[in-house]
Amino acid sequence: MKNDRIFLSPPHMSGNEMKYIQEAFETNWIAPLGANVDKFEEEICDYIGVNHALALSSGTAGIHLALKYYGVGPGDYVFCSDLTFAGSCNPILYQYANPVFIDSEPDTWNMSPVALEKAFEWAWNEHKMPKAVIIVDLYGQSADYDQLLPICKKYGVPVIEDAAEALGATYKGKKCGTFGDISVFSFNGNKIITTSGGGMVVSNNEAAIKKMRFWATQSREATKHYEHKEVGYNYRMSNICAGIGRGQLEALESRIKSKKKIFENYTNGFENNPINLMPISEYGTPNYWLSVLTVKKDYGITIEQILTQLERENIEARPVWKPMHMQTLFENYKFYSHYNDNNNTVGQELFEKGICLPSGSTLNEEEQNSIIKLIKMLY
Ligand SMILES: *Cc1c(COP(=O)(O)O)cnc(C)c1O
Repeated sequence: MKNDRIFLSPPHMSGNEMKYIQEAFETNWIAPLGANVDKFEEEICDYIGVNHALALSSGTAGIHLALKYYGVGPGDYVFCSDLTFAGSCNPILYQYANPVFIDSEPDTWNMSPVALEKAFEWAWNEHKMPKAVIIVDLYGQSADYDQLLPICKKYGVPVIEDAAEALGATYKGKKCGTFGDISVFSFNGNKIITTSGGGMVVSNNEAAIKKMRFWATQSREATKHYEHKEVGYNYRMSNICAGIGRGQLEALESRIKSKKKIFENYTNGFENNPINLMPISEYGTPNYWLSVLTVKKDYGITIEQILTQLERENIEARPVWKPMHMQTLFENYKFYSHYNDNNNTVGQELFEKGICLPSGSTLNEEEQNSIIKLIKMLY
């Protein structure tokens, strides 16, 4: 290969991670508990502006525990954003419940209030009300909560905010992660900050966090011997990983700045080209986790051509998430489109014309210019 591979969103260490890992070694807390875990939870609470947090082994584990908290069980229904990563909705199946997928709206690609209302009307008429609604903040941009939350409230259904991709993003001045009754972050290796793998649930509901903490530690009763009355999980974050997270959190604002600049460079680079960058809404500030482009169809350039062109130069790029209702795993579940019939869907359109571009905070200008140039050569 000519050059080192350019990745979509590689980890970017701040340099302070080792200090916290060292502390864990010195105190011999090499375990799924310890000072780094407690501190990382506190620091996330302070940063987001919530009262309680629970550090976990993954974001998916967080969604699972939140569903369990809302009593989701066999045969129940859960609404979920359609255009997302499978981590948002696999936990619905862990609980043997039925997902109902809600399309995106074209302006921010997040959950469509129109489609959500349609799904609720169906559920109300059929007596299949969901136990929870999972709303995703896609690609680091907040969903439109002033539109979505009143609908959920009207039907009395709790909201789980899947802010896995949106740490640091805001909506009308408030941080993502404050809009769900329970909200979830991910620190997987490709996210804006990483613990190598991990997640966190946050909430102002103290009882919820307490219960989820109990389940996440094998549901051990408060006795000297090991007493169990409920099923439990081994879902806590290790003290080593939490140390990485603490060092990463210190760099978050600087990562957002770098990623914003990358987004702006792409926007300028493709000016006057038949390419658009993901629309940025005026209601908030994204964290610019990934820069995503869409191609205009009438120019005959397909996303496959762009992906091949970049792959040839050892550059990683990927199509937009394949909508969940189009996945074999989920094809038998209900779906509500933003449009009048389910044959047209915003998510499918985006999947067919959207590409996630390299957006790592380590990407330099020269690399970025060469990516822009490679794509422009096709037009
Ligand atoms: C990454 C991601 C998850 C899952 O997080 P993990 O920590 O990888 O389990 C869930 N939802 C969305 C939208 C994600 O991007």
